[in-house]
Amino acid sequence: MTATLPFLPFSKPTIDEDTIAMVGDVLRSGWLTNGGPKVAEFEKQLSAYFGGRPVRTFNSGTCTMEIALRIAGIGPGDEVITTPISWVATANVILEVGATPVFADIDPVTRNIDLDKVEAAITPRTRAIIPVYLAGLPVDMDRLYAIAKKHNLRVVEDAAQAFGSTWKGQRIGAFGDFVSFSFQVNKNLTTGEGGCLVMNTPEEAVLAEKYRLQGVTRSGVDGIDVDVLGGKYNMTDIAAAIGLGQMKTIDAVTAHRAELARHYFDTFGADFEARTGAQLPVQAFDTSNWHLFQIILPDRGPNTRADFMTALKNEHNIATGFHYAAIHLFTMYRERGFHEGMFPESERIGRLTVTLPMFAAMTKADVERVVGAVNAVLAK
Ligand SMILES: *Cc1c(COP(=O)(O)O)cnc(C)c1O
Repeated sequence: MTATLPFLPFSKPTIDEDTIAMVGDVLRSGWLTNGGPKVAEFEKQLSAYFGGRPVRTFNSGTCTMEIALRIAGIGPGDEVITTPISWVATANVILEVGATPVFADIDPVTRNIDLDKVEAAITPRTRAIIPVYLAGLPVDMDRLYAIAKKHNLRVVEDAAQAFGSTWKGQRIGAFGDFVSFSFQVNKNLTTGEGGCLVMNTPEEAVLAEKYRLQGVTRSGVDGIDVDVLGGKYNMTDIAAAIGLGQMKTIDAVTAHRAELARHYFDTFGADFEARTGAQLPVQAFDTSNWHLFQIILPDRGPNTRADFMTALKNEHNIATGFHYAAIHLFTMYRERGFHEGMFPESERIGRLTVTLPMFAAMTKADVERVVGAVNAVLAK
């Protein structure tokens, strides 16, 4: 039976024929990297999308955050508060600039950083907060910026998963301090690999340009100087062409994802949580872009998630993911003094969260197939 079911991944990019043709044009043009027309056009469209704020593109949604911290002058001796439930990049960038990561536990309902715990973690050395909008669900943005203002902190929003998410009708990225997006292949809008940083001022954008290309400033015909230590983080025109193609469909993709999420809730039914002991996500139809659809499994011991993922794969040919394991329990963070028991909600959810299939090309029938499989595996 299993062998006949088509494989369903948990995520898959959709690149349309127009986009493929545009990439072909770039390849034929001879101008493959930055400085060409596609990067400039992509940055222009992104800036318009984010209400005219300065935007620069990069080759990942990791270096975007590292560069934001550098622009803010954050380094050794400074503390930056973030969540343990994110891709490890979010905490790694704090270490990359020589600052000290400070974790605040998550709210078990939203699975995002608990803003009460952020306030409690602030010390005289705190310089910034990096909130993560897990699965595309923003935190309480009013509260976040009230805390930042009160304590004079910078904010680097890890909005890697939140392209197209909104807060009170405004797009995430269209307001706030630094806002970082990723265009990695699983994200709602992809360039294969890539990212962008939304900033506040033209001066920050100039610094961002330096940090992304060896600190170089060019002038005149052959003028060149280097006055900051930058890296090699530029986006290619090939990637930007993919991004331009994706910009055309992003609003339709976001709407389709919301429809799929709605169908997940309807198909699981109101009794799902009581029936199985599993926990569904918050029904955030006014804010989320539904980047991921995650459930928290009922705890059946140390192999709970591995057993669940294996059964879905072997018996139903459905792939799942987990986003994420708690960062503070990784060896490199344990070596810095973190240990079990420090952030209990993150540790529980880091062990029991599972990501169900959700991507642009999915259908409502796919959703029904996943729900049927989840119900069957949890009933065992
Ligand atoms: C994808 C992602 C990143 C990193 O983005 P890359 O483009 O892979 O560097 C960071 N944080 C979160 C929450 C992400 O989902």
